[in-house]
Amino acid sequence: MEGKDISIYIHIPFCVRKCNYCDFNSLVPPSEDTVFFYTDALIREIKSRGELLSDRHLVSVYIGGGTPSFIPSSCIGRILDLISSYITIDDDTEITLESNPGTLNEMKIKDYVSFGINRVSLGLQSAVEEELKILGRIHSFEDFKENYDKLYWGGIDNINVDIMTSIPLQTPESLIKTLDEVIKLEPKHISAYSLIIEQNTPFYDKLRYGLLPLPSEEESYYIYKLSQEYLVSRNYARYEISNYSLEPGCSKNTGGKDYRCVHNPRYWDRGDYLGFGVSAASLMGDHRFTNTADLNEYASDPGQILSEDLMLGQKDAMAEFMFLGLRKTEGIRCADFKECFDVDIDKVYGRVMRYQIDRGFARTDGKDEEKRFCLTDTGLDYSNIVMSEYLLDP
Ligand code: SF4
Repeated sequence: MEGKDISIYIHIPFCVRKCNYCDFNSLVPPSEDTVFFYTDALIREIKSRGELLSDRHLVSVYIGGGTPSFIPSSCIGRILDLISSYITIDDDTEITLESNPGTLNEMKIKDYVSFGINRVSLGLQSAVEEELKILGRIHSFEDFKENYDKLYWGGIDNINVDIMTSIPLQTPESLIKTLDEVIKLEPKHISAYSLIIEQNTPFYDKLRYGLLPLPSEEESYYIYKLSQEYLVSRNYARYEISNYSLEPGCSKNTGGKDYRCVHNPRYWDRGDYLGFGVSAASLMGDHRFTNTADLNEYASDPGQILSEDLMLGQKDAMAEFMFLGLRKTEGIRCADFKECFDVDIDKVYGRVMRYQIDRGFARTDGKDEEKRFCLTDTGLDYSNIVMSEYLLDP
C-alpha cells in the first residue's frame, strides 16, 4: 500500500549575478569550493531527515533557487541519487529544475534527463532587451531562445517560462511583444508575476530617489490584466493567480495532457513537503519549520538550526487552508474543509464568504459534496485584501 503523499523542495542559493529587483537568498557568484561545500551540507541534511521520507509516496521534487542550473550537474545528480535511496522516484514523478537563460548547455541537459528531471522552469521575464537590461538579467532574448531549443531538443519539453509585468519602461505594446514571442514557442506552462519592489535591492534605492521609470499604478493594473486576457485568449488556462498551462487538446504539442504544475499546488493544498537547504521551509501536518537563512550557520549543522519552528493552531491552519486554497481559480472544496477540521465551513467562514459573494469577489460552484467556493477575477485581482478577511481572532 502506498504511503501518504509528500513533496520535496531543494534550495540552491547561487546565481551568476544579482538581478536589480531580487531580495532572494542567493550568493553571487559563489566559488567552486562554496558550491561543493554547500552540496555536502545538503547531503548531510538529507541523511539526517531521510527517515521522514520512508513509507511515503513522492509526488514531486522542485529544485529551486537561486539558479540551480548554474552549479555543476554532478551536484544535482548526487542530491537526487541520495533522495532515491530513501523514497521511490517513479518515472512520471514531476522533477522540476529552475534555470536561467545562459546557464544551460547540452551536457548539463543530458545529465538532467539521465537524473529523471522532466520539467524546467526558465526565467525569461521579458523578450525586450531594454527591459532585460534594466532588470539586471544576465541574458538576452536570444540566449533564452537558444537555451529553450536546447532543452526541447535535448528531451525536456515540459517547460515553464517566467515572465514579469510592471517592469520599468514596460508598455502594453512591449508586454504583447514578450507574450507573442513566448507563445510562439508553445511552452506547456507560463507564469506571469508582477514586479514587486523589495527593500534592500537596487530598485528600492532607485525608487526612493525617483530614478525608477515604473509604469503608474493604473498602467501597471492595465498591463497585468492584459497579460491575463492575452494568455487566456491564446489557450493558456489560468489555474492560479499567476500560473497558466497550455489547454490540453488545443495543440498537438500537449498530446491531450494537462500541464498544470504538480509541485506548487501542493503548497496551495497544504500537502506535506520537506524543504532541504538554506532557508528552505517544510510543512508536515501542521508543523511548519524553516531552515536558517545564514549559509555558514546552515552548513555548521544542516537542518538543525531553524529560523521558524511552530505547530500551527487550528485557527491558523484554517486561515491557511482558505488563503492558500483560494489562490487557485477552482478555489476550495467545502467538504475538504470539513474533512480537515471536522467543522462545517459555514460555521467558521459563512459570514465572510457571503460578504465576499455580495461584493462580487467570490462565488460558489457545484453543490452538496462537490460544492466549491472560489474567487472571481475581481477577487483574485484584490486577493491581498480578500485573503486577509480569513484571519481569525486568536
Ligand atoms: S536569477 Fe532569480 S534568484 Fe538569481 S538574482 Fe536573479 S531573480 Fe534573484
